[in-house]
Amino acid sequence: MNAILTDAELLARLVSYDSTSSNSNVPIADFVSQYLEDGGVEVIRNFNADKSKVNLIARVAGRADESNHQGLILSGHLDVVPAIENGWESDPFELRETEDAYIGRGTCDMKGFVALAINTVRQAVSQNHQHPLVLILTFDEELGLLGAQHLAKTWSAPFPWPRAAIVGEPTSLRVIRAHKGCMYININLTGKSAHSAQPHLGVNAIVPAARIVSELDELRHQWSTQTVDSGALFPDAPFLTLDVAKIDGGSANNIIPGQCRITIGLRPLPGQDRDALMTEITTAMNRGLDNAPGITCDLEIIANCRPVLVDEDAPICQTMCELMSQKNAEGVSYATDGAILQTMGIDPIIWGPGSIDAAHKPNEFLPKDEFVQAREVLNQLVGRTWH
Ligand SMILES: [Zn+2]
Repeated sequence: MNAILTDAELLARLVSYDSTSSNSNVPIADFVSQYLEDGGVEVIRNFNADKSKVNLIARVAGRADESNHQGLILSGHLDVVPAIENGWESDPFELRETEDAYIGRGTCDMKGFVALAINTVRQAVSQNHQHPLVLILTFDEELGLLGAQHLAKTWSAPFPWPRAAIVGEPTSLRVIRAHKGCMYININLTGKSAHSAQPHLGVNAIVPAARIVSELDELRHQWSTQTVDSGALFPDAPFLTLDVAKIDGGSANNIIPGQCRITIGLRPLPGQDRDALMTEITTAMNRGLDNAPGITCDLEIIANCRPVLVDEDAPICQTMCELMSQKNAEGVSYATDGAILQTMGIDPIIWGPGSIDAAHKPNEFLPKDEFVQAREVLNQLVGRTWH
């Protein structure tokens, strides 16, 4: 059995792999698998179709029967966003250390937590816990939760998932039980192209698109004044947000544009019904299309990540609040793999060291004191019985 690395040594090894989402994650996954298997941990590799990406599921079984879904899942993603921004003061893929922080791509989002989770699982082999400890490490979270979605679709359930989970995104160690969802929708308008000198032969697609944009902005305004039950979890924007993100139409100064596409983004709150929202968008779209003969229009959902809401009475939520001396769990505005885990019957609490404000930026950093505190909390958490 190869020696166990310290949490900081393991973090340095993880950072040294350029696991930017555009690269294969097989090299870093091979390293992690080997490290866990050297310590006697069972690892399952869940590959994508062309085997360029892999989710890892590692598990240390407990002594008790698993059918009651007790135990704990620690979950993170292995990919990082590109480190191509200006302003890096050192090699992003070589861990740099200052008195108070570790610096490098992925330190806070989220290889710091991943290092702690891997070592926690490896240590559990010799701890003879009552309930199982499971590690889920995904690919391509940063591209839209792709690895987690693949896992949900292809998992053949060789063992029951524990219900309780920690998704270790950087929350500055605040306990989070909710986030908004995220939907991107294309509205495609088709008219008829023609030479601009012959307007009677064409149907302009941009003009009705402009009316639709104005109707959508009216809808945005209405939604911003409507209260939603789960709104209190999102004090910055306690309502459904809509933004018109992109508009694309026309090809030349002397051609009547036959095509136009509007892309909008929505951030639904937990409990909001997707179909009802789509009906409201369709109604707004149709109002914009009044008096637009010759135009066809369709809606296309190009991404849809569900909101997360874990019950505040869920054992993992209560336990984490108690361990962190936090009165109530909160909400955040960004999406996580928790959205997919929740569809698998798992209660994902989002909690991890480092600040989301340092993520996706040059000189990304992880405060050392939070890294150490997170280790202590994980030690207390592991092996506790969930009722
Ligand atoms: Zn992340």
